[in-house]
Amino acid sequence: MTGGQIGNVDLVKQLNGAAVYRLIDQQGPISRIQIADVSSLAPASVTKITRQLLERGLIKEVAQQASTGGRRAISLTTECAPFHSLAVRLGRDRIELTLFDLAGNPLAEHEEPFHYPNQDTLIEGLIYKLHTFLASHQDVLKELIAVAVSLPGLVDAEAGIVEYMPHITIDKLPLSDLIRDEFGVQCFIGNDTRGQALAEHYFGVSKNYYDTLLVSVHNGAGAGIIVNGQVFLGYNRNVGEIGHIQIDPLGKKCQCGNFGCLETVASNPAIIEHAQQLLAQGHESMLQGKKDLNVSDICRAAVAGDELARQVLVKVGNHLGKAIAMTINLFNPQQVVISGEITEAKSVVFPAIQRCVENQSLRTFHQNLPIVAAGLSGTPTLGAFALVKRAMLNGALLQRLLED
Ligand SMILES: [Zn+2]
Repeated sequence: MTGGQIGNVDLVKQLNGAAVYRLIDQQGPISRIQIADVSSLAPASVTKITRQLLERGLIKEVAQQASTGGRRAISLTTECAPFHSLAVRLGRDRIELTLFDLAGNPLAEHEEPFHYPNQDTLIEGLIYKLHTFLASHQDVLKELIAVAVSLPGLVDAEAGIVEYMPHITIDKLPLSDLIRDEFGVQCFIGNDTRGQALAEHYFGVSKNYYDTLLVSVHNGAGAGIIVNGQVFLGYNRNVGEIGHIQIDPLGKKCQCGNFGCLETVASNPAIIEHAQQLLAQGHESMLQGKKDLNVSDICRAAVAGDELARQVLVKVGNHLGKAIAMTINLFNPQQVVISGEITEAKSVVFPAIQRCVENQSLRTFHQNLPIVAAGLSGTPTLGAFALVKRAMLNGALLQRLLED
């Protein structure tokens, strides 16, 4: 046999294992016979795979009363509590860490400022913070099976390499390997907005949809596109750079080098700057004299009827709506999810987005298209945890655990 053929046998093993685990995860409690029926795998294969999963403690048997009242059937469910993963959201100047069990229950959380002017300080600081977090939660930590990191920037998720971050110079940073070597477990990395879209798909407002578009407005603006239940990634891997759609050819210079990109007008810093300019011109507003103005302040004022704040946010809604309408025309999603502080003024921002979508995208595409606020913003590390969940469901991590 050549290496390639061995690879294929392993791949089939991984995919069959994943198919069985996925059914138990999503439809459990489920019997072996039902698994064989739904998966079209031979009953003997199902028996073999479930034996391995049972031995590893990843699933357990539960007795279920048969509906006919006959003898009790044995069904299978996943075992989530003993398997822990550390999910990290790396921001531009903050870090958030959560220890999750496999069901996505947070067991311990921590966040703190994290400033890293370059790649070396990023690696050193990150590894130190992971060690410190794990050491301080030894009392709850069971088996650590993975670490996942979501970050702003572009990554090659398969190779585990960070290729670009918006605020520091990155040179092909092999983050997954570094963390795996340090902690002895698999490490998954991903773009934070794409991770967030996946988290909403697994656990949040997008649970019942296959195709969704999530647009996030924070320090920049980005999108996560879910197509057929999977994060849409091309051969070149990174897609969804909605923040660099040009909105105003004569607009401000963007950090990408072009002019008037969406994120030069629809990002938290741009929103605050616009409000500050209007305030400096002396326009009447309840925000006059407010120190350390942030987007939540502007949202609160807008909801309370402050005209200056309303105008700032309606303008953001119009710009976002234009870019979202273009994306709807390209992808025809079943749902649009907006994430970020601006959703605190939903009643002001969403109607503006809605109007643009109605005027600028195909009618058949935007008819009955829900535009909703993200549901999981309170737990930003769920985006990283979603990468672990995906690796269990597609077999990549599952197979590793079975081989341990
Ligand atoms: Zn740009």
